[in-house]
Amino acid sequence: MTISIHGIGVGRGVGIGRAVVIASSRADVGHYFIDAEQVEAEIARVYEARDALVQEIQLLLATMNKDMPGEVAALLEVHMLLLQDDELYSGVRYWIADRLYNAGWALSTQFERLARQFEEMDDPYLRERKADLEQVIERLIKRIQGEESPLAMQAPASSGSECLDADAADVPLVLVAHDLTPSDMLQFRQSVFKGFVTDVGGKTSHTAIVARSMGIPAVVGARGASRLVQQDDWIVIDGDAGVMLVNPSPIVLDEYRFRQRQDELDKTRLLRMLNTPSVTLDGQKVELLANIELPQDTQAALAAGAVGVGLFRSEFLFMGRKQHHPDEEEQYRAYCQALEGMQGLPLTIRTIDVGADKPLDDSVPDLAHLNPALGLRAIRWSLAEPAMFLTQLRAILRAAALGRVHVLIPMLAHESEIRQTLQMLDMARQQLDEKGMVYGEVLLGAMIEVPAAALTARMFLEHFDFLSIGTNDLIQYTLAIDRADESVAHLYDPLHPAVLQLLAMTIQAAIDAGKPVSVCGEMAGDTSFTRLLLGLGLRSFSMHPAQILAVKQEIVRADAGKLKDWAQQVLASRDPASLMRS
Ligand code: PEP
Ligand code: MG
Repeated sequence: MTISIHGIGVGRGVGIGRAVVIASSRADVGHYFIDAEQVEAEIARVYEARDALVQEIQLLLATMNKDMPGEVAALLEVHMLLLQDDELYSGVRYWIADRLYNAGWALSTQFERLARQFEEMDDPYLRERKADLEQVIERLIKRIQGEESPLAMQAPASSGSECLDADAADVPLVLVAHDLTPSDMLQFRQSVFKGFVTDVGGKTSHTAIVARSMGIPAVVGARGASRLVQQDDWIVIDGDAGVMLVNPSPIVLDEYRFRQRQDELDKTRLLRMLNTPSVTLDGQKVELLANIELPQDTQAALAAGAVGVGLFRSEFLFMGRKQHHPDEEEQYRAYCQALEGMQGLPLTIRTIDVGADKPLDDSVPDLAHLNPALGLRAIRWSLAEPAMFLTQLRAILRAAALGRVHVLIPMLAHESEIRQTLQMLDMARQQLDEKGMVYGEVLLGAMIEVPAAALTARMFLEHFDFLSIGTNDLIQYTLAIDRADESVAHLYDPLHPAVLQLLAMTIQAAIDAGKPVSVCGEMAGDTSFTRLLLGLGLRSFSMHPAQILAVKQEIVRADAGKLKDWAQQVLASRDPASLMRS
């Protein structure tokens, strides 16, 4: 029977594949295919890890202090039994030999399968053994990954789908998880999945943004998906409608395959826009910039015809690094790499935007009782961590000696924060002077992400060279809607009259001051808003590269002059959505 689960589409298009169901805690397990010749060696690694763990537990049991409570020995014996369970290894052999999964992936997949069997058991004692199995599997995976170089955690270049044998290559895979953090997503950027679904998340949650930048179909907020879907079920992800189908009938599957082919055709057609100038019918030039997460994303930015990077979310350099934050040299190299990647075009580096809403890794303390979106994040966090902030500013200033660098400060609200930020920049320059290090000029921009900033945009323009409107947060803070919470996602409305007023005010303030203003939130890459933003006077859009050509198509068909009056009507309306269709 086909089950359909509704959520929020965040990555466009159709993805079809077999489900790989994972728990978020296992998201940092490497997910890559091995070559057919590696199968025996990969299986052997699992058995070696098992033997080593068995020995370890045996030693523990033999040397255990007699005063230890009996439960400890009993627990170790349970672990020993689970560790030697044949069903575990027959499954693992299947995933490795038939599917060519790497060892860690095979173990975590088999765990999910066995965990379900445990959950369905009537006997509470047996049900609880799931947690023991989890511990055993995690220890096996750790031991196996301990042998791998950090690079092997991602798909190695030689193990892409092109080198699979026919059987495994025929099985596209989609990921189903309860939740994925932005740092989990970073792992998956180089993985083999054709799409993903999560139980939680909103349209502009950071996980969704990374998914969109990967250009794969994705649905978030599909409540219960990771419980309902079984390992290896056939899944259709309809990223446009925000729906996932589980085990659809062959007729439905055919229908979606047809849509997939249509989407491919549309993408090919859009490529014709690549060399078309981004100019409206009435001759207004519009700047199309790229949002990137890592220096290597500049390739996609150039390939899509971006004329610069409007938002480099630098926090992704810091994610998933446990306590080892990149030092000044490493950051400097990353910024230089991005600059080189852009071949002389400007690079806008946003200073680190982290906090409890976007943790650097899983070791952040539990702040569930607080509201992370209203807490210590973005510039507030940077000002509270001056040593880290200065390190980043020095690295950026040094990179600026090599090209056109703009610095963008996230989530400012107070003039005092602006003053402190400017002081930190002066201090970073002074520190570089003292060390005799070369650095360059930067243009300084502020993100307008909180209503307080939009309402005082004129004051911001006295301090900054340019503004960039972060609509993802601006909407969240104007409407008091957590952008990551699917239960209020229906109220997250970019067309709310209050949001539009703030947007229009900010754009107008910059125009009056003769300074550049851009939108770098998801609204900029959504073609349904292009005409409105043009009508409000916006001439610079920054978005993930996959959206650039579609937005350009809207621009070349638009008459900005005519859109001006219409945009004013939308702005004055109590129901802007109804006018958007006119
Ligand atoms: C925004 O808030 O619109 C934005 C671009 O920043 P981020 O999505 O990284 O918070
Ligand atoms: Mg933001």
